[in-house]
Amino acid sequence: MIPVTAYAGRAVGVLGLGRSGLAAALALRAGGAEPLCWDDAEAARAKAEAAGFEIADLGRAREAARLACLVVSPGIAHLYPRPHQAVAQAQAAGVPVDNDVGLFFRALLETEPEDGPAPKVVAVTGSNGKSTTTALIHHVLRSAGRPAQMGGNIGRGVLGLDPPGPGAAIVLELSSYQIELARALAPDVAVFLNLSPDHLDRHAGMGGYFAAKRRLFELGAPERAIIGIDEAEGRFLANTHHAPILVSVKSRPRGEGWSVFMHRNHLTEWRAGRQQAAIDMRPALALRGAHNHQNAAAAYAACRALGLAPRQIEPALIDFPGLAHRMEPVGSARGVSFVNDSKATNADAAEKALLAFENIRWIAGGRPKEGGIAPLRPLFPRIARAYLIGEAEAAFAATLADVPHARCGTLERAVAAAWAEARPGDVILLSPACASFDQFASFEARGDAFRALASACLEEQVAQEAGP
Ligand code: ADP
Repeated sequence: MIPVTAYAGRAVGVLGLGRSGLAAALALRAGGAEPLCWDDAEAARAKAEAAGFEIADLGRAREAARLACLVVSPGIAHLYPRPHQAVAQAQAAGVPVDNDVGLFFRALLETEPEDGPAPKVVAVTGSNGKSTTTALIHHVLRSAGRPAQMGGNIGRGVLGLDPPGPGAAIVLELSSYQIELARALAPDVAVFLNLSPDHLDRHAGMGGYFAAKRRLFELGAPERAIIGIDEAEGRFLANTHHAPILVSVKSRPRGEGWSVFMHRNHLTEWRAGRQQAAIDMRPALALRGAHNHQNAAAAYAACRALGLAPRQIEPALIDFPGLAHRMEPVGSARGVSFVNDSKATNADAAEKALLAFENIRWIAGGRPKEGGIAPLRPLFPRIARAYLIGEAEAAFAATLADVPHARCGTLERAVAAAWAEARPGDVILLSPACASFDQFASFEARGDAFRALASACLEEQVAQEAGP
């Protein structure tokens, strides 16, 4: 844990008691502050109370007025569509509103430097691929023997990390909400992957969403910015920055600057108009698809910015195991492989997986999102057959029309049918383009169920081949 000493002896409100909120409360208590905790959900309050924290309704003016600071969790609205009552009260009382990320950077800046190289912080943001890129940078650093931790939106809350020693690196995944609210941001390396419409209600539209992410580069003033330039916003941001490393999977950045480009499965690094390094990405099984190539190129650039050599980075890109539920290879038998992409909860994400494979036995469905799978029509020729489940079944069947499909109802029946019909070279892909909540508690639970069903098929095959 990273103790927060800035408010020693004073009351600090902690609004939202999930993973990051509880870590913040613990870090504040360890630093001598008196956390006053609140969450609108009773179960979360009970958990904090059991951990010995004082519960106070921070939405009341009297409580708000006692605070030296209010620390807000990313899941709680701080501005749009309207500020949470406790945020509004704090603002009215002139109490600074901050979050765990702000406290983290402040704690780090106020720490006396130890002998040896100062710890480095890498912060990753973007609409898609944040978790993958963060985990990949962390994996490469550790493989190269560099002490590293990761946290933020992935793994531990930022204040739950261990204080970094000399020469260590911390890799943070930061969402737009976390960046927008932090009163201090000081990454050494900041990564902007891409931008597509998301969370627009919380940012009052695309402009607000981009402005939130940009803050990491303006207030944050990183020593080195790594910027994906395949959208207009990335090109704009890169143009405002001094000596960024440009990343593209579409066209090679021109000019004399530093860039990383992905083309035909090869990652190349350019500087002063000359190629510095090339890596064949085909053996990197957990980083298939153009979207993952963007993540790999950005991670490569971040590791170069931290001083790693290309030959230290290459083997770790190749053996990256990938994250669970994101095009996760489950295994294969008789030439048929199973891939778990349960995290694909909308058509946009499922598109990435459909683009990465052919001869697909596609398991899709669940609770549908607006627009359904109509945008995926150009990819239907890659589908050998679709196996539909959940509430979306009828609508998806109608969109698929004469693309071969079966209405299976449950994941269990879908896996059984796909496995029975699959031929060598086929991929049985769970990439549902739907939320899971009609049949599962979460996309993780859905992916776990798929993995268990797939493993049972694979084991049965092994047993059969072994004979009686
Ligand atoms: P995030 O943390 O930003 O949600 P993840 O790394 O968890 O991103 O990936 C979530 C899903 O988003 C993946 O399953 C994939 O479908 C899609 N995705 C991943 N990286 C990218 C990218 N660079 N561009 C577009 N889509 C991506």
